[in-house]
Amino acid sequence: MAVLIDGKALAAKVKAEVRLEVDALRAQGVEPGLAVVIVGDDPASRIYVNAKKKACEACNIRSFEYALPAGTAEGDLLALVAKLNADPQVSGILVQLPLPPQIDEGKVIAAVAPEKDVDAFHPVNVGRIMVGNYGFLPCTPAGCLELIDSAGVEIAGKRCVVIGRSNIVGKPMAMLLLHRHGTVTVCHSRTQNLAEIARGADILVAAVGKARFVTAEMVKEGAAVIDVGMNREDGKLCGDVDFEAVALKAGYITPVPGGVGPMTIAMLMKNTLRAAKGCVR
Ligand code: NAP
Repeated sequence: MAVLIDGKALAAKVKAEVRLEVDALRAQGVEPGLAVVIVGDDPASRIYVNAKKKACEACNIRSFEYALPAGTAEGDLLALVAKLNADPQVSGILVQLPLPPQIDEGKVIAAVAPEKDVDAFHPVNVGRIMVGNYGFLPCTPAGCLELIDSAGVEIAGKRCVVIGRSNIVGKPMAMLLLHRHGTVTVCHSRTQNLAEIARGADILVAAVGKARFVTAEMVKEGAAVIDVGMNREDGKLCGDVDFEAVALKAGYITPVPGGVGPMTIAMLMKNTLRAAKGCVR
């Protein structure tokens, strides 16, 4: 039976560490603040935004919410981003994705000042991740790495397979594992023999967005399995991994909920602290 990697407990520890540093900063007169922008009323986005605001409270970080109607014009959102870029009370800016179809996500991401881009989505920050000299952590992949590290699983020299190649998860995840000297394979919807490739992984990261996509047959005995998936089935949250069956075979596994999700938010808090400290220029 796999060892369960408890993301909730680890996230609480990270947030407590962030809070200590935030309190020290506040004592010096610097008040970290995170602006959270949500456009429309997507229920999943609302849940994530609320969780981020709650994390800010736990870390003693000010949060400013901007909830805009679904019909917001691209120009109005860009104007708000420009205002937040210029606001000294705002250390970090987060625009919750996805955005409604009339708004070009790429334009909005590029409009956020790189030094306030706590999601690390801006091309400048993506480039920094690529060269391994990053100011902001890519939140979800960095959370995955901390989960792997917390279990004492060695990455250097290991075979790592990432399923998914999105800009937000799969690609930066692969880069982080590569920087830690893993031998990385990235799989996607056109990959042939995916099950065989996945079975070769010492560390398997699933970021597909399909419930129970990873079955026990796709997992090597003793592997570390990190489940990024957040799928809703009958109102219930479930991951990309067939947890019950895979847990019998894997060496380590993250649950959903209580795995990568809380760590993503904890990493966002770390990035907001870094922004407030002026670590990223
Ligand atoms: P995405 O942009 O939809 O990307 C999904 C990736 O999976 C794509 O690269 C796609 O391949 C690949 N894929 C889809 N079907 C496949 C198949 N049959 N075989 C192999 N690969 C396949 O999703 P995302 O933003 O990366 O998110 C992935 C999941 O993680 C979602 O459930 C999302 O909700 C969750 N998520 C969780 C967190 C967290 O904090 N826990 C954060 C972000 C995302 P192609 O590129 O070829 O289409």
